[in-house]
Amino acid sequence: MRTWIKDPIAVLAEGAERGIVVEDGKIVELVGKGKQISKKADHIFDAGRHVVVPGLVNTHHHFFQTLTRAHPAAINKELFPWLKALYPIWARNVTPDAFRQATRLALTELLMSGCTCASDHHYLYPAGLEQAMDIQAEEAERVGIRMTLTRGSMNLSEKDGGLPPDAVVQDEDTILADCERVLSRYHDRREGAMLRVALAPCAPFTVTKRLMVDSVGLAERHDCRLHTHLGETRDEDEYCLAHFGCRPVDYLEECGWLNDKVWLAHGIHFTDEEVRRLGRNHVGVCHCPTSNMVLASGQCRTKELEAAGSPVGLGVDGSASNDNSNLIESVRHALMINRLTYDAASVTHLDAFRWATEGSARLLGRDDLGVVAPGKQADLAFYTLDELRFSGAGDPLAALVLCGAHTADRVMVKGDWKVEDGMPVGIDVAKLRAEHGAAAKAFLQSL
Ligand SMILES: [Zn+2]
Repeated sequence: MRTWIKDPIAVLAEGAERGIVVEDGKIVELVGKGKQISKKADHIFDAGRHVVVPGLVNTHHHFFQTLTRAHPAAINKELFPWLKALYPIWARNVTPDAFRQATRLALTELLMSGCTCASDHHYLYPAGLEQAMDIQAEEAERVGIRMTLTRGSMNLSEKDGGLPPDAVVQDEDTILADCERVLSRYHDRREGAMLRVALAPCAPFTVTKRLMVDSVGLAERHDCRLHTHLGETRDEDEYCLAHFGCRPVDYLEECGWLNDKVWLAHGIHFTDEEVRRLGRNHVGVCHCPTSNMVLASGQCRTKELEAAGSPVGLGVDGSASNDNSNLIESVRHALMINRLTYDAASVTHLDAFRWATEGSARLLGRDDLGVVAPGKQADLAFYTLDELRFSGAGDPLAALVLCGAHTADRVMVKGDWKVEDGMPVGIDVAKLRAEHGAAAKAFLQSL
């Protein structure tokens, strides 16, 4: 089936003024200004109402946190006190069913915002939630989105000097055995894969050094990527100095993590020398603008990191510090917070889109995603300019960011429609809202 996505208002790609041709899940041709398609299409999709961008790629999230959005105990706090308020709540009873609802809801929200590939840093493993990665694999298939299952871990609890309570951590042997199991079952390294796996010890203050080091060996054996939180707060700097006698980036280097298989969430509090060292080693950084503003964490040094050699991508971050899963909204937030740090001319809507697409795809090691070009996967997000907020807009691509696009009208993953007329295909949104709401209510009442 060869489909011509014909005559869109605009496309985020060079030489695609008359559209994009998609066949067998891939982009096969861009149709330039005044051009015709090279071979007859089986189907023409009239994109005359649409602005088309590469499917957005989300590189940091915690889906389970949708159960505790805007929680009264946690609002108006910075990271460490915020975590201290939420850990005991999360430790109680995240059941497999509540986790499934949380996963389905977050994936659907992401998809509806124009995201076609997501990763979820899931590090919470209370007793009974051992199948978390299997639940996420099932839900990603159901929603129809690509996913990097990010097998998180915590093994350093309060009794050993860590931050989380004892009930949510696992021991290292259990963690590594499950990482191995999840990798063997779901890590698909082929081009166009719908599922991949990454290993993700949670943060320096929640895992042991041994687990950091052993995760590297396992990742090398399975050719998968590594992820963790780093440089989010000044409290983390102090924790690392007190416990390891060095700064977080030094600790990362000691653990064998300074390489191009690693992407870090946040990356805010780096010195100039650390930025250069991360860049030299091509360590990726996921910028989480919305969460960083909510928790008053600070601003990722996006421009310096990119200039130094680090790919920079975008993440919505967990739904207790965002508190939504809307990636196109984070594109807008990235533009705004970066303009406060730098200036209007050096950070444009195209930079913000690059982070959310090409940059994020690089963090996940996906050179088949993130760009509208022949040979790439047919993952595309289509937005209309029909809402009141766009009326009078000039530049259509800039309008998506500046006027605040919120919901994609259509989303294509691997050549198939997964959102049509603003609604996810095969998912009853009202039912999902009711079921997730009930699961969150039951979870909070179980405390
Ligand atoms: Zn996070």
